Amino acid sequence: MRRANLWGWWVAAGAAATAGYHLLPAGGEGRDLAYNVIGLVSVLAILAGVRLHRPERPAMWYWFAAGQAASVAGDLVWNYYVYVLHEEPYPSVADVFYLAAYPLLVAGLWLLVRGRGGGLTEAGIVGVGLGLVFWVFVLHPIAADTAVTGLEQAVSTAYPAADALLLGFLARLFLARAGTASTRLLAVAAVLLLIADVGYSVVSLYSGSDDDQFAAGWLLSYVVWAAAALHPSMRVPPEPESAASRGGRVQAAVLGASALLGPVLLFVPGVGGNAVDRAAIGAGSVILFLLVLARVYGLARRVRGQAAELERIAMHDDLTGLPNRRQFEQALVAAAAHGPPWVAFVGLNGLKNINEELGRPVGDRVLTVLAGRIALAGGVAARIGGDEFAVLLSSSADAGPAAERLAATLAEPVAAGGHELLVGAGVGLAEAADPVEVLRRAEAAMHAAKETGEPYRTWTAELDERAGEHARVGAELRAALDAGQFQVVYQPIVAVPEGRIAAVEALVRWHHPQRGLVSPAQFIPVAEHTGLIVELGAWILRTACERMARWRAELGAGAPDRVSVNVSARQLARPGFSRTVADALALAGLPPECLTVEVTETAVFGGGQAVTTLHELRAAGVRIALDDFGTGHSSLGLLHTVPVDVLKVDKSFVDDVTEAGRHTVIARALIQVADGLGLTAVAEGVETAEQAEALYALGYRLLQGYYFGKPAAELPATISRRPRPEKATDLPVRA
Ligand code: C2E
Ligand code: MG
Ligand code: MG
Repeated sequence: MRRANLWGWWVAAGAAATAGYHLLPAGGEGRDLAYNVIGLVSVLAILAGVRLHRPERPAMWYWFAAGQAASVAGDLVWNYYVYVLHEEPYPSVADVFYLAAYPLLVAGLWLLVRGRGGGLTEAGIVGVGLGLVFWVFVLHPIAADTAVTGLEQAVSTAYPAADALLLGFLARLFLARAGTASTRLLAVAAVLLLIADVGYSVVSLYSGSDDDQFAAGWLLSYVVWAAAALHPSMRVPPEPESAASRGGRVQAAVLGASALLGPVLLFVPGVGGNAVDRAAIGAGSVILFLLVLARVYGLARRVRGQAAELERIAMHDDLTGLPNRRQFEQALVAAAAHGPPWVAFVGLNGLKNINEELGRPVGDRVLTVLAGRIALAGGVAARIGGDEFAVLLSSSADAGPAAERLAATLAEPVAAGGHELLVGAGVGLAEAADPVEVLRRAEAAMHAAKETGEPYRTWTAELDERAGEHARVGAELRAALDAGQFQVVYQPIVAVPEGRIAAVEALVRWHHPQRGLVSPAQFIPVAEHTGLIVELGAWILRTACERMARWRAELGAGAPDRVSVNVSARQLARPGFSRTVADALALAGLPPECLTVEVTETAVFGGGQAVTTLHELRAAGVRIALDDFGTGHSSLGLLHTVPVDVLKVDKSFVDDVTEAGRHTVIARALIQVADGLGLTAVAEGVETAEQAEALYALGYRLLQGYYFGKPAAELPATISRRPRPEKATDLPVRA
């Protein structure tokens, strides 16, 4: 039998059992036995439902089971009186159990209704309103019946009073349009109980007979109550209804009607004639008034609470809990009243990579940790974009130090998802009276800081000019590529002392129709930014490979061994890059060993796709050179994770290699690292004979620079200049 249908079978069986009960001879022991069995099995069915469905809030079901068990116990005690003691006392110990059932059932209903805004107050309004009606028509007549004892009166009134209480909760359940099938079954069960109770009270009051004509109501109430526990929907408590719930109007009508019941009773002929009824109606009306007042107050408070919550949601970032852009702009406007505010703009690096490679949860964790650090660095912090934060600084004097604090705290690694992640960030500082403008400036400064790798940058007007220039160049680049304004030139990389051109580096040039020759230092960053570098870079690769293949064909053994092509971060980050390289090689018919790809440390420092691409290239036979080595992170650890064949020692170390100093020490250390790791070292930017000799003496055997040859369209036939070995022996020779 499927669990989902269990409750249906249960109801059918229960209904059949109830019918069977009525077929048994009235007043017999068989009937009473059947009655008790149905009750007992229902209690067990409630417990079985809890075990089967494992509800989120099991407590109320235990209260229900206890309530039903109390009823069954009452019946058993009653049977004991009838069959063992042969007496039918009223009231008796059986009534203690019967009455005990109500608080237990109500406790369960209370747990069900609780936590739904105003649930108890509403139950109270309906309960008191109906209670008044009960009082006037049922309770008071019983209480006034002088023929019975005080205890009897008390017990007789207790049943309908308990019913009124039950009814209050029941009304509340219906009003809240208690969503689940299980709660609807509960309501049906309670209604059955109520009908049986009230019917019994009224009939026994006005006709004096008290046979078991209401037994079906009680029995079905047992069965349906247990069915509610067996229904699968009992697992989840009903949703707290929304303010705009469908039941809104019905709810208001029922509550209003209940609240009016007291005064309306006074218009019923024959009611209110005696002082006790009038007092009861008066007291009831006052209580109803107070309950309605409490409900109205509660509603108002809930609306206020919801408004505050909506405001919080609208003004804050979900993930980090920091204020969002909207709130930040408001804070800026407020701050601007006391003079132009200072803002630090933080742009994180490489968050996209983290999200892509380690998954969003890790990215979210990193964001949360860094948001916490930013908030602690001083000032009002806000998250204003995916990986962007802004801090409103307290004073201009604090701007510099705050930016330094931010940069320092963000440079610390973040532990997330089992990794120690280095994120890093650019920080831009700016001041302006206009909230939009100050954010724009600070963001521009942040981008400038990122570009140069400084910890932070303060906005200057010059930044905007550069940005304008960038925008202009960006627009022109595309057309330039189509119009064939680019050219690739080649600079020799010379093997010393023999002076052979061991390799060439391909360098791009832009012949601008108006501005003449534009330096790659000016347009490569723009092409990277706009993404055009991907297409431009592919063209450069093809051109260089074809050219190299031609030299091999024309010069034979006299041709350089390989051509070096610069590749930027944006190109490496594309998964298809190794394919592009393979295509260029195939198209030119050039063996992969004849190509070196030059990348900067910064391009590969973040790891990820860039490093994957390098491994693919390496596997294909292409050599990898780390360009401008010594100027970036210069992390020796990088040499383990990234496949590298060549270290290109930056020009800055070459410049003063002839003087004893820090740079000479580094140049010496770098050649030792290269030798130690079995890498080839190339010294870049060699401009003088002295530099060439000093480098040679340090052990460098591959040199590149204007001293040997400038980048040009053609290769020089021979290299006339070379370090003089006899002079080299004068210099300290590497151990
Ligand atoms: P890089 O890869 O470090 O290239 C070396 C730069 O130093 C070249 O400048 C070269 O002309 C210059 N140079 C060589 N010897 C000397 C010397 O003795 N003295 C001085 N002062 N400079 C020397 P260039 O061609 O202006 O390129 C600048 C940078 O632009 C390159 O630095 C490279 O990062 C980038 N770049 C150039 N061509 C390309 C390219 O085709 N693709 C990409 N992605 N980047 C390129
Ligand atoms: Mg280079
Ligand atoms: Mg370089």
